[in-house]
Amino acid sequence: MEVKTSLLDNMIGVGDMVLLEPLSEDSFIENLRNRFDHNEIYTYIGSVVISMNPYRALPIYTPEKVEEYRNRNFYELSPHIYALADEAYRSLRDQDKDQCILITGESGAGKTEASKLVMSYVAAVCGKGQEVNKVKEQLLQSNPVLEAFGNAKTVRNDNSSRFGKYMDIEFDFKGDPLGGVISNYLLEKSRVVKQPRGERNFHVFYQLLSGASDDTLKKLKLDRDFSKYNYLSLDSAAVIGLDDAANFRTVKNAMQIVGFMEDEVQSVLQLVAAVLKLGNIEFKPESRSNGTDESRIKDKNDLKEMCELLGIEQSVLERAFSYRTVEAKQEKVSTTLNVAQAYYARDALAKNLYSRLFSWLVTRINESIKAQTKARHKVMGVLDIYGFEIFEDCDNSFEQFIINYCNEKLQQIFIELTLREEQEEYVREGIEWTNIEYFNNAIICDLIENHQNGILAMLDEECLRPGTVTDETFLDKLNTICAGHKHFESRQSKNSKFLTDHSLPHNCFRIQHYAGKVLYRAEGFVDKNNDLLYRDMSQAMYKAKHSLIKQLFPEGNPAKVNLKRPPTAGFQFKASVGTLMRNLQTKNPNYIRCIKPNDKKASHIFTDTLVCHQVRYLGLMENVRVRRAGYAFRQAYEPCLERYKMLCKRTWPHWKGPAREGVEVLMADLQVPADDFSYGRSKIFIRNPRTLFSLEERRRQ
Ligand code: ATP
Ligand code: MG
Repeated sequence: MEVKTSLLDNMIGVGDMVLLEPLSEDSFIENLRNRFDHNEIYTYIGSVVISMNPYRALPIYTPEKVEEYRNRNFYELSPHIYALADEAYRSLRDQDKDQCILITGESGAGKTEASKLVMSYVAAVCGKGQEVNKVKEQLLQSNPVLEAFGNAKTVRNDNSSRFGKYMDIEFDFKGDPLGGVISNYLLEKSRVVKQPRGERNFHVFYQLLSGASDDTLKKLKLDRDFSKYNYLSLDSAAVIGLDDAANFRTVKNAMQIVGFMEDEVQSVLQLVAAVLKLGNIEFKPESRSNGTDESRIKDKNDLKEMCELLGIEQSVLERAFSYRTVEAKQEKVSTTLNVAQAYYARDALAKNLYSRLFSWLVTRINESIKAQTKARHKVMGVLDIYGFEIFEDCDNSFEQFIINYCNEKLQQIFIELTLREEQEEYVREGIEWTNIEYFNNAIICDLIENHQNGILAMLDEECLRPGTVTDETFLDKLNTICAGHKHFESRQSKNSKFLTDHSLPHNCFRIQHYAGKVLYRAEGFVDKNNDLLYRDMSQAMYKAKHSLIKQLFPEGNPAKVNLKRPPTAGFQFKASVGTLMRNLQTKNPNYIRCIKPNDKKASHIFTDTLVCHQVRYLGLMENVRVRRAGYAFRQAYEPCLERYKMLCKRTWPHWKGPAREGVEVLMADLQVPADDFSYGRSKIFIRNPRTLFSLEERRRQ
């Protein structure tokens, strides 16, 4: 019987790195480059998909392509993200296995695009019908809404995700979508009040000012001119290739499809406008007779307009900008704010308002897209989280620390599931195996998250400690406790007897992450972790007539005074990442490893050193080695026999003996070369993907 050869044989370069000969880092990179130069942006390492960002629209996502990949075997066609999506979907539908799609890579590598491609592929191939189509449309349209509010132009990426997103898509037993649930992870809210040079605030601000009608802007008391707003950076307001006005219409349309009522959309826009107004409120000092300075609002027009937008009495907000009340047990003490404190209070309110609005949007979207039935369902999770970030010149702050911690955890899951798991499975199954060395980043995760002496725990300890707490005291603590850790470096501080690197600036510490060394500036860590919002502000917001804003500040309800401190930002993040990791571990993982070909956001440029760096830290070489030393495919004896017994007269239709013996008869009958498979305790291991492919081919004939 003639067996069609796999297309893997006649493609550009080698489609699966497992088959690359000879294997070296150079040949690996060369293969990527060769394929990239021929517009082949996808390459496999076994079942892992490497995706190179082409930085231009390629004609490879057409409906015809979807048809081509639909119901085909993974190794049958040239590598494509659709093949991974198809495999995951069929495995969910036919084998009842919950799936997760883990997309990793640094900022700008193409994770968000990849997640959308997976979602749109699955939407295209799963069930049809009016109800089902509505569900699909809502799931897909949640993307533009969240991107408008959660993405921004950064130096690395014109559409950088500034929040982490995990979306579970739920299916019924036939594989039709029922709905979804989105979880969001720590929005980078400091961006609302200040943006690094060359970067912008969140897209929605520019979209609203560029795209709203004159009438809408008038109602929102806004001016079209970006330069009128303190919170909008001027140097990069217009971005080439981004049409803010058109995107505004897309977002409004998407909100409507997702199920937002017209008055809800208006409420949301009023809050966006209120943030802009808030940024324009400025303060001046006024001397008091006792020699201290008190803050006064310079020009009350913006305050007035903000209050009108939110239905807050002006005097209430004005008071909140002038006093801070501390409540302890029976006592209430009010102190006046100086100018610096007033600005601090203003910015804290803006950040909280915006990030709570963002979380509300996610909750509201979830209400619309949640499955309408309680019947048991299967789940495909798609994870698209902010990529690893390193800024030069010690410009890395608490946000980068959190983002990079999250990436460490994802790398850890990758190592656990693909490298360690793989090796351990061979041992468990009694298959002969030589160990492959790989770097295990568990040690870095521990440095950050250990509940006793991890960096996050020490930061929390500082934040909760009575007395004077500053970023310096926090750094001192790190210097004392982390000094000596292999992945931690800092300059000696006065309280520490340890000394590591004299070339480091005084106010910094450095972590050797799996993806490279990052120098963090301690400044702002304590404050950002505390995430303090004066109670006077929450109470002023709670007094608003605007129902959405009232809802966003429940702690402002005087009837519910809670003297307990809210959990710190770091604590919350660690807890939510922990939950996420546990969730991912219950699912069958599918990996997309995104790579950025150059630093210029440009098409056709492939910078070897940059690609090489990513290949190294993503552990892709180890991944190939483990795969090569091992077996591309494995399956328990019973399902294997079930699937292929039709290919052999002695096993078809009924095999009476044990499944393993049945599989042995099958392999002998099909003349699969003996060195191409091994019998484990409970599974058969097949070395070459082509063997599997030919078995699949024979089933079809
Ligand atoms: P971040 O961590 O900053 O969110 P990211 O990995 O999510 O980064 P994306 O936003 O997905 O990066 O990609 C950055 C840009 O690269 C996109 O806006 C798009 O212009 C381009 N791009 C990425 N993937 C593709 C693709 N498959 N085809 C065409 N262009 C792409
Ligand atoms: Mg992204």
